[in-house]
Amino acid sequence: MSAIRIAVEGCGHGTLNAIYDSIKRTCKINKYPPVDLLIIGGDFQAVRNLRDLNVMSCPAKYRALGDFHEYYSGVRKAPMLTIFVGGNHEASSHLWELFYGGWVAPNIYYMGAASVLNFRGLRIGGLSGIYNVRHYAHLHNERLPYFPGEIKSIYHVRQHDVFKLYRIEEPVDVMISHDWPSGIEHHGDLNELLRKKSFFKSDIEKGELGSPPARSLLNKLKPRYWFSAHLHVKFAALVDHGNFAPLVEPVTGLADKNKVTKFLALDKCFPHREFLQLLTIPITKPEFGLSYDPEWLAITRALNPYLHKHPSVLNSDAFKEAIGPMIGEERMWVEENIVAKGRLGVPENFRITAPIHEGSPTAREDRMPESYVNTQTTAFCELLGIEDGTKFAPGSEEKEERYRSFVANGAGSYLRGGRGGGGRGGGGRGGRGMRGGGGGRRRG
Ligand code: 5GP
Ligand code: MN
Repeated sequence: MSAIRIAVEGCGHGTLNAIYDSIKRTCKINKYPPVDLLIIGGDFQAVRNLRDLNVMSCPAKYRALGDFHEYYSGVRKAPMLTIFVGGNHEASSHLWELFYGGWVAPNIYYMGAASVLNFRGLRIGGLSGIYNVRHYAHLHNERLPYFPGEIKSIYHVRQHDVFKLYRIEEPVDVMISHDWPSGIEHHGDLNELLRKKSFFKSDIEKGELGSPPARSLLNKLKPRYWFSAHLHVKFAALVDHGNFAPLVEPVTGLADKNKVTKFLALDKCFPHREFLQLLTIPITKPEFGLSYDPEWLAITRALNPYLHKHPSVLNSDAFKEAIGPMIGEERMWVEENIVAKGRLGVPENFRITAPIHEGSPTAREDRMPESYVNTQTTAFCELLGIEDGTKFAPGSEEKEERYRSFVANGAGSYLRGGRGGGGRGGGGRGGRGMRGGGGGRRRG
């Protein structure tokens, strides 16, 4: 039996250099073998340039370009394969380009809104965003230019993506979510958690800490490991699946699954924080590289036509019954057209879309990013024979018009997130934001 070495980090918050340095030093000091895979639990901040900062929900004091842009432009290269899910502080339009997953830089892969990947025989699932009841049943309908409300709603977990993950029947080794599965605090040292974070107390008492859909997925999928971030504290827990009633939906008809989930949440990479965990995971099938997952591809083929349909469609008993056989059929398609043709490997097809950052990292920039069609998404949709759901833009011209008048009426200063200066009423700004130049292919 072989094993892989994994490093898990909590929230990224744009500190890639320090994260990679910490891993390197830890391995050197402890004489550990090199790390094969780094997992980052969100708030990754894949900020390509200053315009991307204008779609990142973030308090003014943390609004900074960060390290990522050097990995994007090629000045630096990630020293190990790095995968991440999205959190609530992200370059949101960049991540939306890669809704189905894709490279944000060479060696750095975003898992998409939800997905499953295989790395050397390890099956890894991910769910991006944080739970908020207000937007759970919403469609992914945020489109550039984002209104202030969309900058916040875009990172809220959607039922569509959870529904897809919930259809998984084959065993999952690792699950990653930014926020914690709800109730997980009761499976570890709660007193110690409250000693570190006393302000969680009222949320815990109300049962409101963490994400109900993430918990529902934990109960259903029973992965060997579950990694989270978001709450900026290290917390370990053990969930015994033989020993508790599922909180959300009863689980039926599952294949032989893992009995215990080891949960670990980690802090952000700041001095004196517990942000990093190295571990060795035994694997039975040491396949090489990062590859797509046949079951996930089948689920994606079956559910993609519903991406822009209201999720009440998914909730009917009739649909829940019909979807199993539909996925079964798509699985045959996937086996024939992708697996048998040797096309499961994730291609190394990163390409720069938005322009790279040049000049001062603190220069003033009021425009939002352009909207790009990412060639990786195009390639993925061609591979799967599905329609590219990121292109769907209901009433986009009408929206640009509304946005123009919103800015012209003096509400545009939110773009700078309270950095000050500029004041209100910059009528021309929104217009420039939508017409400015830049690399890549602009969406029509
Ligand atoms: P972020 O970096 O995503 O803005 O937020 C993380 C911080 O917000 C952490 O310090 C965490 O303690 C706090 N936080 C996030 N979600 C919750 C929640 O649901 N309840 C409580 N009490 N604190 C939260
Ligand atoms: Mn967060």
